[in-house]
Amino acid sequence: MSARILVVDDLAPNRHLLEAKLRSEYYDVVSAANGQEALNIAERESIDLVLLDAIMPGINGFDVCKKLKSDPHTWHIPVVMVTALEETSDRIRGLEAGADDFISKPVDDFNMMARVRSLLRLKMITDQLLTHTGQSLEDSRQMIEGIEKSHGKILIVDDHQGRMERMAAQLLPKHEVSLQMDPRQAIVESRAGIDLLIVSLVSDKFDGLRLCARLRSDEKTRDLPILAIGEASEEARMVRAYDVGINDTLMRPVETQELLARVATQLKRKFYADSLRDNFNENLEMVVSDPLTGLGNRRYFDRSIMPLLEQAKSGETFSLVMFDVDHFKRVNDILGHDTGDVILKEIAARLVTNFRSIDIVSRYGGEEFVVAMPDTNADAAKIAADRIRALISGTPVYLDGQALSVSVSAGISQSLPGESARDMFKRADEALYKAKLAGRNRVELAPIKQAA
Ligand code: GH3
Ligand code: MG
Ligand code: MG
Repeated sequence: MSARILVVDDLAPNRHLLEAKLRSEYYDVVSAANGQEALNIAERESIDLVLLDAIMPGINGFDVCKKLKSDPHTWHIPVVMVTALEETSDRIRGLEAGADDFISKPVDDFNMMARVRSLLRLKMITDQLLTHTGQSLEDSRQMIEGIEKSHGKILIVDDHQGRMERMAAQLLPKHEVSLQMDPRQAIVESRAGIDLLIVSLVSDKFDGLRLCARLRSDEKTRDLPILAIGEASEEARMVRAYDVGINDTLMRPVETQELLARVATQLKRKFYADSLRDNFNENLEMVVSDPLTGLGNRRYFDRSIMPLLEQAKSGETFSLVMFDVDHFKRVNDILGHDTGDVILKEIAARLVTNFRSIDIVSRYGGEEFVVAMPDTNADAAKIAADRIRALISGTPVYLDGQALSVSVSAGISQSLPGESARDMFKRADEALYKAKLAGRNRVELAPIKQAA
């Protein structure tokens, strides 16, 4: 993942050290020697993450953080405060200023990289959400903050009851917490739907890594955020945990502020991703599919099929078949619009079941259907279209014991080398018009003239 990180520290050796560490992980790094410079850079450049020294002369880190988080151009950039090891009060100040997380000096590489990775994942999801809404950063802020529930459903898995209860107490005022000592039961509860799993990797009675691996291989829990709790002496195990796919780690003794910050990041990421998925599915359904027939609609055809046709390698042969129901206005006038709908549905079903599965049938307009036939020349397309035309006019639709007959006309064009999909579409439409003029219930081929 290539991301741009802004390092802010008033001391040059600190800056250089952080820069070197981040560059060795292939991040793109910019740095600032004071708060004002940092604000200028964040405003001007596209930054994915800020590592911010808390104590600096001039504007200190807390104020820089507050400014970044309240600026419409920069509020969405994750900020990690770098504080002195023992200063718990600094961490609380940092969180109050809106920091997403913090690391202690002297900076431990493993911990810093974990923070960076975790927050960059969050930033990626936020960016996707922002792009998806198509709104300005400022307008999207409210929307994103609306997604941010303050509490989540958290499951703690550990083999030590007292330890679990202590952690639950740290989380409890804010979150809904349940405890589990049996890893099999933990899988059942995770599948049932939780927002975050906190698992102890150092326990005697079960293998936490194995539990994580199980959850990752199960489709229902593949994306469940997992925060692993370990011990500094078990660093190798913690590194393995990332390979298994956990999202974040925390070392014992677990400090409350740190725990709450890590939990908040994971929950945010999950809620944003859920919202993105819901929106996406909903939009996808509503925007591209036709509710009456379940087929892709005109937008689907124009956005998804036309570009495919456009990209088809020259020399690849495919055909477009355009169907239009004959005298459909009359059908509506005589039988009513609802019956017209039933007939359209039936025609759609007949098209789908009688073309091949590689052919793509779309409902292009009211009573117009377009079929894209890959790897098919016009003659083969005509044989297929004519068979289906005959089937439609030869098999009445039965409705309330009444046999209703309808027919369709079709026009076909075969791709020409160098021709645009749009022109090919136009030729199919012209052929259809010819079929209508020639008396309907028939299929016509567009002449294969060379593209201009
Ligand atoms: P032609 O043989 O020349 O195609 O005659 P036509 O009557 O089918 O001509 P035209 O394309 O002008 O009319 C299409 C009609 O299809 C008009 C409209 O009322 C009807 N129609 C369009 N969409 C729907 C729909 O979703 N349901 C129903 N019941 N009718 C529709
Ligand atoms: Mg029509
Ligand atoms: Mg018609």
